[in-house]
Amino acid sequence: MTDIKSMTQSEITDALTDMGEAAFRGKQVFAWLQGGATSFDEMSNLSKPLRAKLAERYYITAPKVARKQVSRLDGTVKYLWELRDGNCIETVLMSYHHGNTVCISSQAGCRMGCRFCASTVAGKARDLAPSEMLDQVLFTRLDSGVEISNIVLMGIGEPMDNLDNVLRFLELANHPDGLNMGMRHISLSTCGVVPGIDRLAEMGLQLTLSVSLHAPDSATRSRIMPVNNAYDVEDLFDACHRYFTKTGRRISFEYAMIDGVNDSDAQADLLAKKIRGMPGHVNLIPLNDVVESEFRPSKRVAAFQKRLESHGVTATVRRSLGGDIDASCGQLRRKAMEGREEA
Ligand code: SAH
Repeated sequence: MTDIKSMTQSEITDALTDMGEAAFRGKQVFAWLQGGATSFDEMSNLSKPLRAKLAERYYITAPKVARKQVSRLDGTVKYLWELRDGNCIETVLMSYHHGNTVCISSQAGCRMGCRFCASTVAGKARDLAPSEMLDQVLFTRLDSGVEISNIVLMGIGEPMDNLDNVLRFLELANHPDGLNMGMRHISLSTCGVVPGIDRLAEMGLQLTLSVSLHAPDSATRSRIMPVNNAYDVEDLFDACHRYFTKTGRRISFEYAMIDGVNDSDAQADLLAKKIRGMPGHVNLIPLNDVVESEFRPSKRVAAFQKRLESHGVTATVRRSLGGDIDASCGQLRRKAMEGREEA
């Protein structure tokens, strides 16, 4: 059995013409899938024999809502989805003044090992298929009834560690007969996998690249992010330069503020020095407390921001949403895996 929702429209069309069907059937099936159909029986403009033939060869992914939490503070919605094989992943729906953003996972778990992050505590279970990334958008949209204007690949997992599937997902989400999501409305966040950044740069896509920097110097970064031992922060900055040169797109540097680790004035000065001349901006994130982690949120966010700005670097502080619903970074999945969740 093959996962039909991970196939591009032209692959579906080829498969159907091989079965002796007219080419326009491909477009129809693709549209049904992107509309969130969960069975071939729903595809009422296909003949019954064709629906039966398709059901013999293909399956249609459809995650089940294992848990849904709505923030009383700001309406942020967090979904815990159960996949076909029982693995669970998270998706967050956030409303901003410029529209609704859905934050999706790219892997079940993560193997990058960032020391402050809940997603990586139990390692990686598996990569997500393109269909499973698309489903997070399709079913969030269907369940919530709101239109999605932006997609961010900032949920559980490292997109660059599953780049083939991520690129295929982007192609699916971008297709005019489907979600039709413009690349400029998609962001991809990486912990700094240099070959992935270069591969993406080569493609020249107009999406926004976010780099989870979290420290301007090698010693601090290696302490909190093991990926820095494979791709040093200096190489990472070089890759960011190459990315900008190739794509002309500004990079967003994520910086989670950790008490006594990366929040000194000296680190702000070094950060400013490193990114001066690089078209990009710094997004300061108040650290989310993760029970498993030894790190605590910094109390110097505003001071750090001021210091950066005194050097002419633009820095914003990310508004924290869903603070009452574990809306960040694998926290709900962790609780579910451990049976820690109440009710
Ligand atoms: N693997 C990718 C995308 C997923 S993480 C990446 O590393 O970019 C999404 C963002 O949340 C990253 O910037 C990550 O470093 C950050 N993050 C993880 N744990 C956090 C925590 N406890 N508090 C604040 N931000 C956190």
